[in-house]
Amino acid sequence: AKAPVRPPYGIDIEKWKRGKGIPYQIGDQQMPGVCLLPGPQAKRNWPDKDKYKDTEKIPGMCQLCSTICGIIGYVKDDRVIKIEGNPNDPNSRGKLCARGQASLNHLYHPERLLYPLKRVGERGEGKWKRISWDEALDEIAAKLKTIRDKGEHSEFAFHQGRQRSKDAIKRFLDAFGTKTQLSHRSLCSGNRRAANLTYLWESDWDLNDVENSKYILNFGSNAFEAHQGHIPFANRIQNGRFKNGAKMVTFDVRLSNTAGNSDEWFAPFPGTDGAVALAMAHWIIEQNKYDADFINQWTNVTLEELREHLSAYTPEWAQQVSGINANDIKRIAIEFAEAAPAATTMCNRGSSAHLNGYYNDRAINLLNAIVGSVGKKGGWCWSPWGGLDPVVKTPAMPSSAKTWSVLEDPPEYPLANVWRRMRVGEIVYLYLLQGRAKLQAYMTYNLDSPLTWPEESLTQEVLTNEELINFHVCINCFYNETAHYADIVLPWTTFMERWDLDARASYNLRPYVGIRTPMVEPLGESRDIRDFFPELARKIGDGMEEAYEYGSTLDYMQTWAENVPVNPDTQKGGLERLLDEGAWENQDREPFYEPFNKPLTEDDLAGAETNDEGIITKDGIGIGIQIDGKSVRGFMTPSRKFEIRSLFVNQIGKNQDCEEMIKQSGVLKTKNRPETHQGHDVEIDPLPIWRQIDEHENLDSDELIMTSFKWNVHNHGRTMNLKWLAEIVHSNPAWINPQTAEQLGVADGDWIELTSYQSQMLERELPNIMHGERDESGRLVVSKMRVPVVTMPGIHPQAIAMSNSCGHWQYTNVAKAQKQSNGEEHLQGSDTDGYRDEDWERNMWWEDTSGGDTSKWKQNTGNGWNQNRLMPIAPDPITGQQAFHSTIVKVTRLG
Ligand code: SF4
Repeated sequence: AKAPVRPPYGIDIEKWKRGKGIPYQIGDQQMPGVCLLPGPQAKRNWPDKDKYKDTEKIPGMCQLCSTICGIIGYVKDDRVIKIEGNPNDPNSRGKLCARGQASLNHLYHPERLLYPLKRVGERGEGKWKRISWDEALDEIAAKLKTIRDKGEHSEFAFHQGRQRSKDAIKRFLDAFGTKTQLSHRSLCSGNRRAANLTYLWESDWDLNDVENSKYILNFGSNAFEAHQGHIPFANRIQNGRFKNGAKMVTFDVRLSNTAGNSDEWFAPFPGTDGAVALAMAHWIIEQNKYDADFINQWTNVTLEELREHLSAYTPEWAQQVSGINANDIKRIAIEFAEAAPAATTMCNRGSSAHLNGYYNDRAINLLNAIVGSVGKKGGWCWSPWGGLDPVVKTPAMPSSAKTWSVLEDPPEYPLANVWRRMRVGEIVYLYLLQGRAKLQAYMTYNLDSPLTWPEESLTQEVLTNEELINFHVCINCFYNETAHYADIVLPWTTFMERWDLDARASYNLRPYVGIRTPMVEPLGESRDIRDFFPELARKIGDGMEEAYEYGSTLDYMQTWAENVPVNPDTQKGGLERLLDEGAWENQDREPFYEPFNKPLTEDDLAGAETNDEGIITKDGIGIGIQIDGKSVRGFMTPSRKFEIRSLFVNQIGKNQDCEEMIKQSGVLKTKNRPETHQGHDVEIDPLPIWRQIDEHENLDSDELIMTSFKWNVHNHGRTMNLKWLAEIVHSNPAWINPQTAEQLGVADGDWIELTSYQSQMLERELPNIMHGERDESGRLVVSKMRVPVVTMPGIHPQAIAMSNSCGHWQYTNVAKAQKQSNGEEHLQGSDTDGYRDEDWERNMWWEDTSGGDTSKWKQNTGNGWNQNRLMPIAPDPITGQQAFHSTIVKVTRLG
């Protein structure tokens, strides 16, 4: 296939400087890696009717959040002048959110990193000099080679934030020989994934078929603003509601934009979603509204066992723990059951990010089994294709690394890694501080852990300490809070300047393939890992280079995409087709409805055996089950049924051998816990239960439970530098219910001090993660923070909410809500001398000019506060998911 003509990677920077006539300087003690381009605000000839005439339209995929919507870049004179949605993308269907529209700010940011930097002062001091790529890669290669030569491979860790180049990272780490790949999954979705896997095994991702639903029961998902499948999901929810007449009911402690756009909103006490769900399950059974066929045929419990198990979870009991009126619980339960099978639950961090989050999500999912909507059209579905259609084969990979590290697989959290790698990211810095692990080299990639991880000060302490992290290379598009603690900073390309094949689990319930391609040549000396990892591997040598014998990046992409079939209309196939259309959906696959009912073929059954329970195996490996005399695929679980009772989680929690169960499921990538986990047993209930977070039971009158949220214009840590978005939301005062404010004696605009604590429940269950100073009451204090208050009826009276994304102290002037300075007071580490973007400066109306005097602070100014500073490191003891929303804070009125 012939690829389109694109400028090669990299440009002659001297020529580029002369051609553009852009002033910038290089100073020894400054940060010269900053690009001083005219920003997108340079509105020449505006409005210009001919602006999009004669533009080349190049497809790509947004990466400002994990939804990866298809985009089209309008390119004119080697410059992207507009981004819009790609209607060929089967998941996002041509829709984009505000973040996607602001991609131009990302690409042409006046303060983008464009050159490699080397630290010249103390770590964290912010002093840098520009170096060449050659110097940077030589230094990195020498360090990595030493580690490799000593056989200490696992002491090189790769720590990723949002990443969509899985193959390129895995190739490099496997070729090097380390499995210490760290991620933020446990900060995001560990409990939801583990709950799904407990029932299904084959997928950790439920794809609620909301477009075809009649009833959508939402527990704590803010899908209209920030869900992992945000735009495709929101689009389908609204289609379900306005085209299909679906009703949507939301339970959330806060009136999110999703809750506000639902038909009904209820605010349960934080962490009680699972209690409400179990009470609904109880009532559906009590009122004989259950699906007896599904329960009897397709679950591994009997109706009577279920009735008995749920008997104590009455709506009246749930009213006591959640505050939701029992009559509402009963009414909604019956409405949900009557709409089934076109009825589905959905949930996310609102229910998951709690110390009891795993049980919350299991309880919520159970409702779908009771009403028989599992796998049904309009019901609770899933897809085994988490990403790219498997017909697309990654070019040959090196064999997997075999190391083990406590950072990557901490033994205390039994469900974190047994089915698939979910990891427990929030403990990484703590374990380094405690001496439980050490790192000789640390490579961060699109990561902003000081801002987005819990316990900002602990993260900073560890990143500063050269004994704990000996050598830190940061790969990023901008100089963020992580780059500030690096030894070498490498300028990364944006998603509009690099290659990827990509896809996520699609709400169409069939897989697809999309493409990211350089729309323009990378600015400055920015480079993607696909471009410099091969060079780094060759410099390290000793066989690493063999992983890169595929030729150029373009050769690699052509091989990778070669199975994309020819489009009969255009006669284009493979990479050429993707470059033309941006995405290809495999229409040969049926949407993944009721996969458990799929009959086994004669070929499947040849040589198969059936045991007394009807389970069909071949060579000892489960392939199906007999139901009503028919041989069908069943669920991919040990019982081949939807596992309401999971013996696996119970036994694996106790480090027992589950080999036979794994074989029967047929999901052989599931693993027993390794030797290193011995002595770390956790009791996991085989049935869905609800667990009280006991420290929430008796809050003092000045204590509230903190919740956080995202706005529809921001992701967690990577958008506050984009001016179009920061102008809309740049600050995050704390939301408090007016009743609570009155009790505390605070009014709108007053300032309060928040003091946060370590979890007492975790102190009993995971004493080895406890740290900090105790206050006079004997509790371990995490942090204190001063913030102003907004009184808001849309928040539970015992909760307090602050959005995340705010409070940057690096990441460009925009993220700090500072006008560009001219002269003395320039951004630390940045070279803004002699450069002013008048538009940027003139329109920075939200700059905080109070100088830190709270009495002079004006509402809606400044860049807010990093709410994660208050969050303790708090992993769910079963999965390791960070329990962001279980944190107790004490409120003190100031002034
Ligand atoms: S939802 Fe918005 S930010 Fe996320 S990928 Fe889509 S357009 Fe980009």
